[in-house]
Amino acid sequence: MHGQKFAVIGTGTIGAQVIWQLAKKGADVTGYELYSPGHSRGAAGGETRLFRHMEAEHVEYLPVIGRADAIWKELEKESGRTLRNLNGALMIGSEGSPSTENALAAADRLGSSAKVFTHKEAQKRFPQYALNDDEIAILDTSAGTIFPERTVRAAADAAVERGARIVRESRVGDIRQDGDKVSISVNNETAIYDRVIVAAGAWTSSLLPDMAQFLATRRLLSGWFLPAAGKTIDGILPYMRLDPNYSYGLPTADGLAMKLGVGFPHHLPVTSPDTAPMRISDVDLEPIRAVARDLFPNLDDYPMRAQAYFEAYTHSRREYMNFHPTMSNVFVCAGFSGKGFKNSPFFGELAADTVLGRNLSVPEAQFILDFEHVAKAPV
Ligand SMILES: Cc1cc2nc3c(=O)[nH]c(=O)nc-3n(C[C@H](O)[C@H](O)[C@H](O)COP(=O)(O)OP(=O)(O)OC[C@H]3O[C@@H](n4cnc5c(N)ncnc54)[C@H](O)[C@@H]3O)c2cc1C
Repeated sequence: MHGQKFAVIGTGTIGAQVIWQLAKKGADVTGYELYSPGHSRGAAGGETRLFRHMEAEHVEYLPVIGRADAIWKELEKESGRTLRNLNGALMIGSEGSPSTENALAAADRLGSSAKVFTHKEAQKRFPQYALNDDEIAILDTSAGTIFPERTVRAAADAAVERGARIVRESRVGDIRQDGDKVSISVNNETAIYDRVIVAAGAWTSSLLPDMAQFLATRRLLSGWFLPAAGKTIDGILPYMRLDPNYSYGLPTADGLAMKLGVGFPHHLPVTSPDTAPMRISDVDLEPIRAVARDLFPNLDDYPMRAQAYFEAYTHSRREYMNFHPTMSNVFVCAGFSGKGFKNSPFFGELAADTVLGRNLSVPEAQFILDFEHVAKAPV
């Protein structure tokens, strides 16, 4: 590492964690950000994200979540800021469905921090939710809400505090490797680095066209709903409802409204956030309104606010964390597929350790780096 220079392109959710980790490990690192750390135009906006230990899709991520949790506490201590509120979250699933079976297996592994409720018990304990007859609930007592903009900002500020530089409001236009060196063009100049980490979220395919084969860029909507007249949502918990009726939601920090979102089939395909339509039509809103109507007896079904965000998905829905297909000194972190926030501190550490040639803190997480074959699966 001695004398080597590193650049991180994009200091959003993942890039801010990467630059903090590199700075912590003593690297000479510069970050470039199109806007400013903590902005809301990419994947990190909307004030809340779900943190959960329960894993219904890929149970092999359980040790990863544990490590992310530990790094989160470290960042909170270092930054002096509260970045999460872990008051519990519900996972709702149809009895016997494959994702519910996975969730129950994860609950088993989590032990006393996960409590399983039958349909009848769940309806009694969580009357804010109108569950289908075949649905059960699992309470993940150590899950809860992440404050995403604040987290990105805290990691970026902590990196700068440790000696990193962040060049804000600057778009990196071109990345090329020539021999061992990587050149990037930014602000009408060329800068040369030994290693470049790209964490450009939904902009990745525009910046690195070779990555487009692995990624699908989507516009995601969030809708915020107030209680209906005379109703209350006091004490409502964040939730995730598993397939086949996937949706998720979190109360706002003041507890007065509920933010809701739906799954991949409802996300608009876009080329890039730069050119994506930002107008949200009534047709666009309908799937989220249907969740408010069907699952929440106490919510008004017309949102008080709706907002668009952008995310890149891989075809397998597992992140691409690997070197660029043709540039061996460019490491790409992309395709977090609608679930990258909760593990972002770990992904930052993994990227930093990999480019520094160090062992991973969680050896079982090696599978994340062996992911190339999954990313190459056809659309
Ligand atoms: C609506 C929504 C809800 C979600 N809910 C959850 C949840 O509850 N739990 C969870 O774990 N995950 C959730 N996710 C997923 C999670 O938020 C994303 O996986 C994660 O934020 C992706 O991070 P990223 O770093 O790839 O992208 P971003 O955070 O968007 O960061 C990319 C950054 O790169 C910058 N950039 C791009 N191009 C350039 C360039 N050329 N030069 C310089 N800078 C550039 C951008 O400005 C941006 O800051 C959700 C996502 C969305 C959109």
